[in-house]
Amino acid sequence: MAEKRAVPDVDRVAAARRAVERRRARAALKRDLTTRVAAPQTVLAKAVADPESVAGSFRVTDFLMALPAIGVGKKDRILEELHISPVKRLGGLGIRQREALTAWLDERFPPHSPRAGRSRLLVLAGPTAVGKGTVAAHIREAHPEIHLSVSATTRAPRPGEVDGVHYYFVDDAEFDRLIADGELLEYAVVHNKSRYGTPRAPIDAALEAGKTVLLEIDLQGARQVRAAEPSATLIFLLPPSWDELVHRLVGRGTENEEERARRLRTAKVELAAQSEFDYLIVNEDVSSAAREVVELSEATAR
Ligand code: 5GP
Repeated sequence: MAEKRAVPDVDRVAAARRAVERRRARAALKRDLTTRVAAPQTVLAKAVADPESVAGSFRVTDFLMALPAIGVGKKDRILEELHISPVKRLGGLGIRQREALTAWLDERFPPHSPRAGRSRLLVLAGPTAVGKGTVAAHIREAHPEIHLSVSATTRAPRPGEVDGVHYYFVDDAEFDRLIADGELLEYAVVHNKSRYGTPRAPIDAALEAGKTVLLEIDLQGARQVRAAEPSATLIFLLPPSWDELVHRLVGRGTENEEERARRLRTAKVELAAQSEFDYLIVNEDVSSAAREVVELSEATAR
């Protein structure tokens, strides 16, 4: 008879550490679902592709509860309707259960698809700290063929910012005049502080000359552009994960604790608006995100 062997301490410590890491990874994935950084269908696809992955080890109960607007009662009803036991893990679902869950998700969270007939007027928006400005700056350097709109703002220039290149720095009276004379395509108060707006004339001229135009603006502005120019191509920049967004906001160190908390609350609201956009691009690294924007611009130029 085989002798029962004691598990060596080192193995036990390593196993405990792995378990903690997996729990942490599952909690991070839950945050991604709750904040809509990750689409539920993508998480389910990952679980199916690799049942041993973090997504695969996610209990279907926790998965459903992480989705927007699903509480305990609703979760129980859904599981019953889909004939899925609450103890099941995403990676362990049978084919029928998987299909039923996918159909339910597609109905509730329709997969993303761009509207038809997009124009060369591109709008890049996304939550605070996702890196829109950096992606736009990269495009300005590497792709002079794309006309990057220069906004007017009432905020003071930061060191290194050049009037007419990064922004047109104007005072309140001049901003009022721009609005009154209808010179702005859109404008908004951003972060409860300064006003920002997109001058209309340079955009019209660039489009007229056959160029692609890129606007890097906030969500309120993106909505106004869509209302004014329904054919505009709206691009939403996503962070690779919610934790990474928090990390980027903290890392740049330009806001105090209270301001950071406020911006993260705003970011959640902004992330919830992603379905209004034509394309989603994940800002994993700046140059690939910029390349994807440029590729989109080439696709719409045809
Ligand atoms: P910052 O002050 O850091 O340069 O920009 C702050 C925010 O203002 C960014 O989220 C940027 O997208 C937004 N922003 C810049 N220009 C415009 C604009 O013309 N219109 C709107 N609505 N937002 C803008």
